[in-house]
Amino acid sequence: AKDMGRNTFQFYQPEMNTSVGTRLNLERRLRRALRDGEFLLHYQPQVDIGTGKIVGMEALVRWHDPEVGLVPPSAFIPVAEESGLIGPLSEWVLREACRQNKAWQDEGLPAARVSVNLSARQFQQRDIAKHVMSILEETGLQPQYLELELTESAIMRNAEEAVTMLSELHALGIGLAIDDFGTGYSSLSYLKRFPVDRLKIDRSFVSDIGASSDDETITSAIIALGHSLHLQVIAEGVETAAQLEFLRERACNEMQGYFFARPMPHEAIPALLKSTPTR
Ligand code: C2E
Ligand code: CA
Ligand code: CA
Ligand code: CA
Repeated sequence: AKDMGRNTFQFYQPEMNTSVGTRLNLERRLRRALRDGEFLLHYQPQVDIGTGKIVGMEALVRWHDPEVGLVPPSAFIPVAEESGLIGPLSEWVLREACRQNKAWQDEGLPAARVSVNLSARQFQQRDIAKHVMSILEETGLQPQYLELELTESAIMRNAEEAVTMLSELHALGIGLAIDDFGTGYSSLSYLKRFPVDRLKIDRSFVSDIGASSDDETITSAIIALGHSLHLQVIAEGVETAAQLEFLRERACNEMQGYFFARPMPHEAIPALLKSTPTR
């Protein structure tokens, strides 16, 4: 990460605490995982607060390490980013998410978009839009069913270039969401220029609705800001009925969180889509 410069120190910090030996070992195991197909996706529903229907789902990667079991992304994404494995891993995630979504539609299940997380590293790749387009073509998924989630910090790292890259992505007809919104430092003038569709309120605010009036104020402000810019707003990390009620009263569009459903294996999704049709 040395060549990445001082400004990325914070981002890579978790790995700096890991010894070089451990990291190389993890890197080797990740390479094997990619080769042997040890990654899988879990999906977490995104629900329209007004209708209660599932309108989307976020694809969340897991690693099934034969030695230790299911490994969460926080334990391997940073190393994947540092080692360059994030490229092939992200490509697998994107292709698998699109392929699975198309397969569900082909089975006659109610259509719901799939949201895929794009790492900061991926977003620095100049030809990302071409890449996304070729995966859409290959899988046959219509672009309106794909959404990419980009963190506020990834976008703001190079805001001027982000305007161009977001425009290229948006021109494909896919959706764009700003993830972890409120934790970074988006300037309002940039926000207006980013061709995004959705703000995703960070869990750190949502989880303290009912406990912190500051976080309630921030949540309300983000919803109002989003709506004034004609953006949809989704809240992540919704765990209680009281939090949902707070969001509903402020006309937040969508919610995602344990209160509705945890991330789940793909096998569980068809039944859920059938029980709460999207139309
Ligand atoms: P994220 O994008 O903010 O994803 C949401 C995380 O919050 C997920 O953790 C999800 O399981 C968790 N979550 C959802 N609802 C609740 C809730 O009600 N309460 C609480 N306490 N947590 C909730 P997960 O799956 O461990 O993912 C962690 C992070 O790893 C993600 O944060 C994302 O930044 C990253 N990640 C996951 N999949 C991918 C991927 O395919 N590519 C990249 N680049 N990053 C990924
Ligand atoms: Ca996300
Ligand atoms: Ca998030
Ligand atoms: Ca908080």
